[in-house]
Amino acid sequence: MAERTLLQFFHWYYPEGGHLWKEVAEKAESLAAMGITDLWIPPAYKGATGPSSVGYDTYDLFDLGEFDQKGGIATKYGDRAALQNAIATLREKGLRVMHDVVLNHKMGADELETVQVRRVDPDNRTDIEEDAFEAQAYTRFTFPGRNGTHSRFVWDMKCFSGVDHIHQPDENGIFRLINEYGDGEWDTEVDEEYGNFDYLMGNDVEFRNRAVYDELIFWGEWLAKEVGVDGFRLDAAKHIPAWFFRDWVGHMRQSINPELLVVAEYWHPDPSVLRTYLDRVDQQLMLFDVALHHRFHDASQAGEDFDLRTIFDGALVVSEPDYAVTLVDNHDTQPLQSLEAPVAPWFKPLAYALILLREKGLPCVFYPDLYGAHYTDTGHDGGEYTIEMPRIESLPKLIEARRKYAKGMQTDLFDTDDCLAFIRHGTETEPGCVVIITNRNATQKSITLGSEQAGVAFRDFLGHRNEEITTDENGTADFTVEAGSVSVWVRADSL
Ligand code: CA
Repeated sequence: MAERTLLQFFHWYYPEGGHLWKEVAEKAESLAAMGITDLWIPPAYKGATGPSSVGYDTYDLFDLGEFDQKGGIATKYGDRAALQNAIATLREKGLRVMHDVVLNHKMGADELETVQVRRVDPDNRTDIEEDAFEAQAYTRFTFPGRNGTHSRFVWDMKCFSGVDHIHQPDENGIFRLINEYGDGEWDTEVDEEYGNFDYLMGNDVEFRNRAVYDELIFWGEWLAKEVGVDGFRLDAAKHIPAWFFRDWVGHMRQSINPELLVVAEYWHPDPSVLRTYLDRVDQQLMLFDVALHHRFHDASQAGEDFDLRTIFDGALVVSEPDYAVTLVDNHDTQPLQSLEAPVAPWFKPLAYALILLREKGLPCVFYPDLYGAHYTDTGHDGGEYTIEMPRIESLPKLIEARRKYAKGMQTDLFDTDDCLAFIRHGTETEPGCVVIITNRNATQKSITLGSEQAGVAFRDFLGHRNEEITTDENGTADFTVEAGSVSVWVRADSL
């Protein structure tokens, strides 16, 4: 994936009002020029909270901002015409579009049904009470505002395995719906936290119902035909049976495009768990490198106490380099969100250098790091917080450096705890670079590039250092870096 750079073009607090599809179309040209190749866009269909939905509360997969449902026609990001214009514009500029797909659950059902349920222990989901009882639950989705357009499928209690709320008795919890699928048990091939992590939230989709399975295949093909698809980001994969995505992604590759870029969100730091998942899905998709994100968070918190030589310990990009999508932050890890573990701003240029300029991994850039973000929300302690996510000034240059200089073989010089360097040797036609990073004081490292690089002048592509450094007759020089910073040294004659 050396030639590709992914951008997550949204964050949790992106403003409401239908601006995003318009903004991404306007920025398409500049993103392509910078070196972005693939755009991860937010869920494009109607969520249960309508125009204020971020998109992870799936209501109607077939309503791309086209029907008056859940309080408006457009989604938070705009209407269907704006979405189609955005995708067409991005593709015109040579960018590929990756759709965010939330298939684990649905929310905001239209009608109550009489159902049979059994109570589930939330801390051990395999502990399901023996006795079933009758209740009312919101499990019927008829999509009255769409009225059968695009699909006539009605979702009902047979399409779900569990709910978190029942009426009569009025109760919150986790309730296993009793229907003909799964013999009363949760699905297998899901994460093992809480005994069985099939159930996450809302109405949990029952993939063992063949009609549901067929409808979701029909939907994927419909989406590609109607608006265009170059890839998928699969939400909540650890709550969805692996066999389903193995089949579904296989179908999509066959019917849409064998080259689809597919990345699943299996949010787990243990590479052996991710390895098992990759095996179960026949290696048909990539996974986010959760462990590396946590290393970046820890390093940014520890400051100069962190041993930089351990930065890649446990990372997926080390154990499964061909299947790792590397990231610094995302919409779940940003401040005040559910998996909050943000990487401090001072460390972000270092972290981005470590995902953008290396040989392995498909790097994913996060919207606020490129454009900044400012928002207010309630924190985990109930207090109100205003968050300022500053634009990372050197990020556009780092993305450009990936396109121009992250070329050829890589040599690592991870020899001191406070200063890492690596060399990209370039190819016959493309120049390489020397990347040097420190989490302590300004420093330098003696680096030998070989006699073919003797007497060559280098400059810092990021402009953090101003001097010119010239190698001696052996191709050796002392390459410098500012305190808590990164420099990307490139041949002066390549600038
Ligand atoms: Ca599930």
